[in-house]
Amino acid sequence: MTIHVHQLPCLADNYGVLVHDSGTGATAAIDAPDAAPLLAALDANGWKLTDILLTHHHADHVQGVPGLKAKFPNARVVGPKKEASRIGGLDVEVAEGDNVKVGGIDLAVFDTPGHTAGHIAYYIASDDLLFAGDTLFALGCGRVLEAPMATMYHSLMKLAALPGETQVYCGHEYTLSNARFALTVDPDNNLLAERATEVEEIRKQGKPTLPTTIALETATNPFLRAEDPGVQKALGMEGGDPVAVFTELRERKNKF
Ligand code: ZN
Ligand code: FE
Repeated sequence: MTIHVHQLPCLADNYGVLVHDSGTGATAAIDAPDAAPLLAALDANGWKLTDILLTHHHADHVQGVPGLKAKFPNARVVGPKKEASRIGGLDVEVAEGDNVKVGGIDLAVFDTPGHTAGHIAYYIASDDLLFAGDTLFALGCGRVLEAPMATMYHSLMKLAALPGETQVYCGHEYTLSNARFALTVDPDNNLLAERATEVEEIRKQGKPTLPTTIALETATNPFLRAEDPGVQKALGMEGGDPVAVFTELRERKNKF
């Protein structure tokens, strides 16, 4: 079994992702921001869509489902049990501890509430791949809309604990704005400064900054570094409770 991952820009700043198992021919879309570019990518690769795996109920992640189903009526729609009624039309409802099979690929489901109350992420342990939706972004995290800040922080810590080599795919290309913010709250982090320079260059060329890795994020993403003395010092919160530091980071980013 060889897994191929194809990432494509959708809408203004979303990413669509296709995960293909060359052994069985099965192909999953991770979220469905926009049917047309996903169908074009399937066609270009000669892949047939067998599964649609949704991370959360927001329109920019589910609105492409009807268009995908129009072309692939047998595609199975999988999504978070806790948001099943808001999304509608799920064939399989999943939560933490469940395993989703796409051909020969096993995807573990993690509950990652915070951005939305029932948000989930999908993890392929065999190939160190994480599909984080709008929970974790490169150098950032999703807005905390439907749960307490502590809940989001714990979801992020769960993802941060995965192996460093894990490749992380995210719902949006927000990295440039995230990098500029990160520099303001972790000013002495040399690795972050280097990465921010790279990100400016990559985005100038119109190229994607994703996927990222867990190792890179734990070293440079301030939202995973609430316990870091440098971040705490920049916020004037030395020795602060990590959830309080995370909350301050998230509130500053909301206004940035
Ligand atoms: Zn969202
Ligand atoms: Fe989104």
